[in-house]
Amino acid sequence: MVKCKTVAVIGGGVSGLAAAKAFDERGHKVIGFESSHDFGGVWEPSRSYPGVQTQSPKELYRYTDMAMPDDYPQWPKGPQVHAYLHSYADKHKLGRLFHLNTKVTGMERRADGQAGWTLTLENAGSTRTQDFDFVAVCTGQFSYKNTLTHPGQEEFVAQSGQVMHSSDYTDPEIARGKHVVVLGGSKSSTDIAVNAVQHGAEQVTMVYRKNVWRIPYFIGGINFKRLLYMRAQEMQFNSWGRGPLKKLFAAVTKPLVWANFRGLETMLKMQLGLKKWNMVPDMPIEKEACCSLPLVTPGFFEALKTGKLRTVLGTYQQYVGDSVMLTTGEKLRCDVSVLAVGWKLGVPVLPDEYREKLVAKDGQYRVYRLAVNPDLPDMGFVGFNSSFCTILSAEMIASWLVRFADGQLVNQPSDAAMRSNIEMMLNWRRNERPSAKVYGGLCSAPFHFKHFDELLADMGAGKAKRSNPLAEQFSFPNADAYGEFLASTPQYTAG
Ligand SMILES: Cc1cc2nc3c(=O)[nH]c(=O)nc-3n(C[C@H](O)[C@H](O)[C@H](O)COP(=O)(O)OP(=O)(O)OC[C@H]3O[C@@H](n4cnc5c(N)ncnc54)[C@H](O)[C@@H]3O)c2cc1C
Repeated sequence: MVKCKTVAVIGGGVSGLAAAKAFDERGHKVIGFESSHDFGGVWEPSRSYPGVQTQSPKELYRYTDMAMPDDYPQWPKGPQVHAYLHSYADKHKLGRLFHLNTKVTGMERRADGQAGWTLTLENAGSTRTQDFDFVAVCTGQFSYKNTLTHPGQEEFVAQSGQVMHSSDYTDPEIARGKHVVVLGGSKSSTDIAVNAVQHGAEQVTMVYRKNVWRIPYFIGGINFKRLLYMRAQEMQFNSWGRGPLKKLFAAVTKPLVWANFRGLETMLKMQLGLKKWNMVPDMPIEKEACCSLPLVTPGFFEALKTGKLRTVLGTYQQYVGDSVMLTTGEKLRCDVSVLAVGWKLGVPVLPDEYREKLVAKDGQYRVYRLAVNPDLPDMGFVGFNSSFCTILSAEMIASWLVRFADGQLVNQPSDAAMRSNIEMMLNWRRNERPSAKVYGGLCSAPFHFKHFDELLADMGAGKAKRSNPLAEQFSFPNADAYGEFLASTPQYTAG
């Protein structure tokens, strides 16, 4: 009989909701903590910039037991995702499990000699502690802003210049009539640059160091979900753990794979006019495909054509008067400087001695199945396996984690097996697939199917593939099908 545990879930975003549901469903006593006033994490409206929408099509950004509403567009807007997450919390009555406005500020191993952790909790100025048998950390990768300051910033701000992190660009009126400079080349920077142009900015300039491949929502008129999310496509990337036969197959098919990706690059160059805009990346697309691969913000190339938006390859050197001086020597007039410089990875609530065990010196995370570390007992991470379909990934790993915590995986890993797998994955990222090092290695894309196959095998799923082999090879991870696969795993209840 599996013993009922008291489980803390830290964070009330996509991952926290998945974790709370998974542990609650197995009969554990779940208590969730969310520092904000509401669920949703990055989709909570006060945290997202105007016009934000998903990169994933709606069929790929959902839990297995709840589709997004029919009247949602193919790429739902931020408030729609937020409403969807609320409906999901309502469907599973997850609200009763969470304490909102409650921040976890610290954790220590329990002093009473029991397994588990003592969390320090802060709410409305008061602090208390509480013991838990297991902790699911679901704090996301977008909770702690990267900060950056440049010489001359104080004087620039004193002269009424504005400097803000991309997540603080929440009101498009900020841009109206202004010279806006956006630092960074990620999706958030193109989203903000386009938004500023569309809201009457005088001039917008995007300054970034390196061209990257950007995927349009439709490639040659076809929704990218039909081209890029398939087992057949995934097999072309150099995944981990390939045996001699798979390596031989990869060597034989290398010219075909090469031709496939050059064809894709040619299509992107032609469709987007990358040469004309000096935006052709140096890196082959197959080497870059990972969670940081951005989609093209609708209106981006149109804004370049109007001249209201320009791009410059370089970075800031310093603020000078009402301008920004770039490393290229160019001086840009600037009223509003938006720093789209991303987020700090990390789990700040972890004591240093455990953080050192979790994160290697080169910033790579040491996690088995992107979820647990043998040196951090009674703890797991939901959301570290982010992907191009993160809601499904979060649900899959939450379902795996509860079984891991309960010793109910069919392939319950030994301590030695976890350590050896972690070393193998680190070696793969460092030597065979450097793009997998992005975000400390916390990304399962583009290997969605392989990752899910491993999780389902661990859980002992009776079914892990669709009956139609063509659908299995040539279509995207289907959330309904994954619901069936999860239902085919051995079921149990803690008591
Ligand atoms: C603009 C944008 C668009 C995106 N689009 C897509 C997409 O199309 N497809 C896709 O797959 N992914 C997308 N992502 C990635 C997205 O982050 C994930 O899909 C998903 O929302 C992550 O959820 P999460 O719960 O893991 O993290 P978060 O949403 O970051 O939630 C973490 C929660 O933890 C809380 N928290 C943090 N620390 C503490 C603490 N100490 N105590 C209590 N609470 C705490 C935070 O307040 C937050 O609510 C997008 C991200 C952004 C920013």
